[in-house]
Amino acid sequence: MSRFDVEAARFDFPTLHQKVKGKDLVYLDSAATAHKPKLVIETMRRFYQMDNANVHRGVHELSERATLSYEGARRDIQRYLNAASHREIVFTRGTTEAINLVSNAWGRANLHEGDEILLTWMEHHSNIVPWQLIAEATGAVIKVAPIHDDGSLDMEAFEALLGPRTRMVAVAHVSNALGTVNPVRRIIELAHAHGALVLVDGAQGVPHMRVDVQALGADFYALSGHKLYGPTGIGVLYGRLALLEAMPPWQGGGDMIRVVTFEKTEYAPPPARFEAGTPNISGAIGLGAAVRYLNTLDFDAVHAHELDVLRYGTALLEQIPGVRIVGTAEGKVGVISFLVEGVHPHDLGTALDMEGVAVRTGHHCAQPVMQRMAVFATTRASLGLYNTREDMDRLADALRKSIEVFR
Ligand code: PLP
Repeated sequence: MSRFDVEAARFDFPTLHQKVKGKDLVYLDSAATAHKPKLVIETMRRFYQMDNANVHRGVHELSERATLSYEGARRDIQRYLNAASHREIVFTRGTTEAINLVSNAWGRANLHEGDEILLTWMEHHSNIVPWQLIAEATGAVIKVAPIHDDGSLDMEAFEALLGPRTRMVAVAHVSNALGTVNPVRRIIELAHAHGALVLVDGAQGVPHMRVDVQALGADFYALSGHKLYGPTGIGVLYGRLALLEAMPPWQGGGDMIRVVTFEKTEYAPPPARFEAGTPNISGAIGLGAAVRYLNTLDFDAVHAHELDVLRYGTALLEQIPGVRIVGTAEGKVGVISFLVEGVHPHDLGTALDMEGVAVRTGHHCAQPVMQRMAVFATTRASLGLYNTREDMDRLADALRKSIEVFR
């Protein structure tokens, strides 16, 4: 018997309880964005209703309250990730901005002609394009580690690609297109043995597992609030303090300085150095509420529940003639990507929506992995902690019905 009461948890997420196209909504698109618990919605409403003010600048009561809540959220996230210091938590717009921050601020200062950045074939575009931009600017070279047919990383090839010029390894914790969980601890050990730093794209990692950045040994860990049951427009870059302290800023403006004169500007220490301008105050506070909500759950039990739903759903889909699952790596989490013979994923997505089942179709911002798996697009059902076996039954039924219509 699971210690996680999914039916009770579902009550915490108001958006789930509605009809779509006349049917009870089955939401299977949490990898794109997850729904928000009442605690997040209520915390943000209360901030705007009672406290709304800018942070760090005012001496008045409201500004002090806003600053306390904003900096409190930073500490909530520090504890959630077990970072050594709150100064290692930089608020960003999301994973994309966190990676662009590192590629720009760290990359401009540390990458030189011929230096190597090692990626994998399963990266999201936001862990590819920022590195291409900085490679173009600095003369660095991008290497790409291959993956096996089941979607797991080819660790032998990965290791062989590490060399004396490797400066940065940037790798997804979990693939958004396939659900593959990468052995990031081992990757970090290997990279460090070669003197390279590691950035982990944790956008799909933190929603499915507890992450301890110190135990992992990551140099940088990027995440998006909206995939972690928090609001959109807020994310986190965790960076080891010594690295952040040695990095120049990448955007200039208010709040990131110590002293400004026309001759010379002194920058604030991290994290302020990397948070130019008025930040997403309500977003940060909402994300703080999201991790406080997650802290009320037994995460091991949540994980076991999610795996049960994933396995149950996978077995159901495998029984449907013409369905092929793309991405079958051992230990995968959160995602069932699949193809249906003779039916375009977009048509399928629309047909499933008619049944109240929300899935994502397309290349999932991971075109290289689509090429590698020799598909142009997939239909992706992705799970949140609130999904159930019944949701998988509804998906399978809707799929059968849709396939009949198309044949
Ligand atoms: N990395 C992965 C693995 C993702 O799945 C996503 C979003 O889908 C991102 C990065 C980008 O996240 P965001 O758009 O929130 O910045």
